[in-house]
Amino acid sequence: MFNERIYNFSAGPSMLPLPVLQEAQRSMLNWNGSGMSVMEMSHRSSAFASIFQDTKDRLRRLMQVPEEYEILFLQGGATTQFSMVPMNLMGRTGKASYALTGNFSTKAYEEAQKFGQCLVACSSADKNHTYIPAQEALSVDRDASYFHYCANNTIYGTEWHYVPETGNVPLVCDMSSNILSKPVDVSKYGLIYAGAQKNMAPAGVTVVILRRDLAGSAPENTPVMLDYATHIKKDSMYNTPPCWCIYVLGLVAKWLEEEMGGLGAMEKVNAEKAAVLYEYLDESRLFRSSVVPADRSRMNVTFRTESAELDAQFAKEAGEAGFSNLKGHRLVGGMRASLYNAMPLAGVKALRNFMADFEKEHI
Ligand SMILES: *Cc1c(COP(=O)(O)O)cnc(C)c1O
Repeated sequence: MFNERIYNFSAGPSMLPLPVLQEAQRSMLNWNGSGMSVMEMSHRSSAFASIFQDTKDRLRRLMQVPEEYEILFLQGGATTQFSMVPMNLMGRTGKASYALTGNFSTKAYEEAQKFGQCLVACSSADKNHTYIPAQEALSVDRDASYFHYCANNTIYGTEWHYVPETGNVPLVCDMSSNILSKPVDVSKYGLIYAGAQKNMAPAGVTVVILRRDLAGSAPENTPVMLDYATHIKKDSMYNTPPCWCIYVLGLVAKWLEEEMGGLGAMEKVNAEKAAVLYEYLDESRLFRSSVVPADRSRMNVTFRTESAELDAQFAKEAGEAGFSNLKGHRLVGGMRASLYNAMPLAGVKALRNFMADFEKEHI
């Protein structure tokens, strides 16, 4: 039992910024004098239209999304994008290139095989996804309709610290677990997608940013809800959108813009937070990181001791001390600390101190 908020290191759904939760709480019963909660509003009302537009405008400003790109608020999670991307984009040449650097990129690749020929551009499976292949190691098929990669591997704790060069082949990127953690040059991409529940909002909305010319050539029999053209045409309102999630996403974007100083400033804080843990891990005699230093994720820090029993004991004791959700994903074991935007530097330092105390007791 905790009477105070704790440091929640969950990989997703994950922490939201306290000022965002407080503002959502203040508006819970009566948003802006409307006499109702955002949860109770018609999505066609002018009140909700203003919330929707505000969220979209803020995201466009924060990420500097160029004019020729659409921002869509969809449902079905990032996982639905594993299907929507090939359904909509594979038709151009009938094939696509996939970089396999972890669990989700491999799932995306497997799903895409239903819709055409999928080529493996690179794979880090040979070393259990503990690194990111270099540009020189990528084989990009020039005829591919697109090149798909996952910018941050949430489970393994690796992150692409460069944007792949693919010539004329459009880049498609799953940014679910590092979107809004740093500036990105959107103009280098054809399509970016991200489930919101890691670094943006509550679970239930998926953000898709796509260059408009890539939509509109899905096959005739594409289900209407799975065709990007439908959502572009109706400005994400073909059916009822996830209104509450879009509202909270707007609050998060406002917090980033007005309190955190935008994505450039956020990147600095995130680098500092990650360095606190990695510097400790590199010195520790008990804990270690298995990821190649140059490819370490700033969002999901994976680490372990030499023993699975000790890992379990650590995660349990940390949880009791108010550092929750540190148990690693079942695919890799060990521990994982997710340091998304909402995790304050103080939380990371407190965790490092807790780890150092645990180390003293067990070495
Ligand atoms: C969590 C996650 C997913 C799956 O997202 P859902 O919204 O649950 O479908 C996909 N890709 C990455 C990188 C993730 O972190």
